[in-house]
Amino acid sequence: MAYILPEVFTGSFTQQEPIPEAGIEAAVAVLRHGRLHRYNTLPGEIAEAALLEEEFAAAMGAKYCLAVASGGYALGCALRAVGVQAGDKVLTNAFTLAPVPGAIASLGAVPLFVEVTDDLTIDLDDLAEQVAASGARVLMLSHMRGHLCDMDRLMAICDAAGVTVIEDCAHTMGAAWRGVPSGRHGRIGCYSTQTYKHLNSGEGGFLVSDDPQVMARAIILSGSYMLYARHRAAPPPEAFEAVKWDTPNISGRMDNLRAAILRPQLRRLGAQCAAWTDRYRAVEAGLRDLPGLTLIERPAEESFVGSSFQFRLAGWNPAAVQDLVARCGVRGVELKWFGAADPVAFTSRYDSWRYVPPQSLPQTDRVLAGLLDMRLPLTFSLEDCALIARIIRAEVGAVFQKGV
Ligand SMILES: *Cc1c(COP(=O)(O)O)cnc(C)c1O
Repeated sequence: MAYILPEVFTGSFTQQEPIPEAGIEAAVAVLRHGRLHRYNTLPGEIAEAALLEEEFAAAMGAKYCLAVASGGYALGCALRAVGVQAGDKVLTNAFTLAPVPGAIASLGAVPLFVEVTDDLTIDLDDLAEQVAASGARVLMLSHMRGHLCDMDRLMAICDAAGVTVIEDCAHTMGAAWRGVPSGRHGRIGCYSTQTYKHLNSGEGGFLVSDDPQVMARAIILSGSYMLYARHRAAPPPEAFEAVKWDTPNISGRMDNLRAAILRPQLRRLGAQCAAWTDRYRAVEAGLRDLPGLTLIERPAEESFVGSSFQFRLAGWNPAAVQDLVARCGVRGVELKWFGAADPVAFTSRYDSWRYVPPQSLPQTDRVLAGLLDMRLPLTFSLEDCALIARIIRAEVGAVFQKGV
């Protein structure tokens, strides 16, 4: 009797592409001259960091940009720049990654979590209620796993209540809602260039804004001393005059080495985002119309970057989900389950951040209990993505048949 071995995937879900040659060359040039600090320039020289900011601002359609040491630093800096104080409540998504509540806690402020919907975006009804009930003046909106909510409705809710919106675009650099880039709806957009995001400098991040006072504060906060005139994507000197005496230096600058690595990557961001979304669509096509598995349908208004993939196993019991994760794992497909009792690797469950006062979020609990996730690095080919989908499809089918 012929026996067909089950297909196995052998790629790595954590392997990104190498740095492009142009980035390696630019990095080596910085290493050779040794002026890695962004304010260490020769007369007439423009630092790589300042050029990168100018190019990133242009790419996002923003007036101002600041490059910083990490995405998490960008978030904390943004909160300080809009005037959040210790003890203030800051609204944020219950479904996000640890650096988001961590940034809020770093100021001594208090995260107030908003429920997630079945589509993995912030629940706008719950947001409206919590805005009214809490009196919070700031929303740190996390576009978690690349899903954009109805940004028009969100901004209408926040504008009407005088709530300042800071966008966490760690997963949406290059995405847009009805043509407006992610990060350009709120007062400040924050991005990460950590290895697993859409640009890779190991660590790094950006803030963008059109608000001169906010950006002047952010630049001083990041550790510009009185050298802020060396920035290019920055507000005019008057904006700094108003804030330079009472804004503390909380160093978190980006250096010229990272900036040099990022500039060539930024030039190809659009093509990379399209390649991610092709991979996402390949997985999605392979998982369509599968009993037991629910896809997250993407709204027509959203141009997303498919650098990760999520699906739901609505109503499955934990043992069945665990069985599926184990079976896929044996075949080389690493699924992350957000419903696990204990946090594993990158934590994304609100109840594992125990420094935050406990909150009851039954809807989020229900959604996360059936939520599975995987990364789609660009080292995967479209054929790899089709294979991954075939493996998940077969294993979901097998577990579902046994009963979930
Ligand atoms: C990665 C990430 C951040 C923070 O980025 P770092 O550069 O790692 O500090 C913030 N929010 C989300 C949702 C992230 O995934």
